[in-house]
Amino acid sequence: MRITLVQGDITEQDVDAVVNAANSSLLGGGGVDGAIHRRGGPTILADCRRLRATRFPKGLPTGQAVATTAGELPALWVIHTVGPVYSPSEDRSELLASCHRESLRVADELGARTVAFPAVSTGAYGWPVKDAARIAVRAVRKTDTRVAEVRFVLFDERAFTAYGEALRAAGPTD
Ligand code: ADP
Repeated sequence: MRITLVQGDITEQDVDAVVNAANSSLLGGGGVDGAIHRRGGPTILADCRRLRATRFPKGLPTGQAVATTAGELPALWVIHTVGPVYSPSEDRSELLASCHRESLRVADELGARTVAFPAVSTGAYGWPVKDAARIAVRAVRKTDTRVAEVRFVLFDERAFTAYGEALRAAGPTD
């Protein structure tokens, strides 16, 4: 698997699946979630509502992932995952790793070969970006998957730098 980095907007990525940093309601929010629903149009929310009504009446648990169609986005699917809210007093890194692992498991189920991830939990959920980058890169590298490219799409330069450093620290993948 190749891990690549892009500074930019995840809604513009021409990949099989984009990962959404959703909240457990699956009914929309700010940040990446807002951007995906805005650009993807109403079919994504309609799918999310159906998932709430059928599989996740109490919401999608933290650390899990589920797919919907991608509406008008260039991607074919959106994989919604719920990152943990950062806590300075409790180690929630396993849940953040789980988001990445579970998203790739769902990608494998879909047959997606290229998957774009945002910096899950580093916005509204407050995770320090260097630490999140380390956890995300490590989790992706450790996952056994048929996904050929994982592309981290970082909105700002700080996140782009942090993910670049985490990737270099982890060593080569190919
Ligand atoms: P969370 O609630 O998991 O923290 P957010 O969406 O608030 O999720 O933020 C996650 C990261 O996504 C932040 O680093 C934020 O800057 C970034 N982000 C916001 N919009 C976009 C976008 N359109 N494409 C890629 N990244 C984005």
